[in-house]
Amino acid sequence: MTSYFYYLIPERSFHPNREELAAKLYNYFLEQGWIAPETEDIGNNDMGNRFTDKGLTDIVPETFKEFSHQYTGVCFKTFDQPDLIHGGENAADAVAVCPHCRAQFDFYGNNNDETQQPRSDLGGLISSQDEADYLHCSECGQSDSFNRFFPNGGFAVSDLAVCFPDITHEEMLPDFLISKISEIVSSPLVRIYCHI
Ligand SMILES: [Zn+2]
Repeated sequence: MTSYFYYLIPERSFHPNREELAAKLYNYFLEQGWIAPETEDIGNNDMGNRFTDKGLTDIVPETFKEFSHQYTGVCFKTFDQPDLIHGGENAADAVAVCPHCRAQFDFYGNNNDETQQPRSDLGGLISSQDEADYLHCSECGQSDSFNRFFPNGGFAVSDLAVCFPDITHEEMLPDFLISKISEIVSSPLVRIYCHI
């Protein structure tokens, strides 16, 4: 069976206050009347909070009303250590882009497309195990957060993630909701659309 997940992940990987941020997100959704307070399996064995009817009314964009059944709920996930969040089948096409010089790196180092410039593989970006949340660009020499190299998804490393199971299109989450989550965690978000 195919499973879909849509993740919103802060650009930086470490959040010493991750539990507090997850609680803030939970409280915001609860105060809006969007979710049920109890945690339960909301699909794909993910433990989260089911959307209420008000949640579906407020969150589901007009063009996706007929797919309301796919909006099962939301999971506010925290991990003891930053974890790799993988885009599943979609990660096969992931390309890392240096946020400073725009150099591109094929994650698997197997770029077979003759029409494009050859890419270095991502191995050249990882400077040390201790700095796994940072990547070091071999083209311009600058380092930055792992997640800033994957603005369009594929991979992320984080100890905090907001996950929506069963969301099958990027456009299914409205911009106002993404902006609000970004505001609460005080960070731009990387979006990972995962298909396994
Ligand atoms: Zn660079």
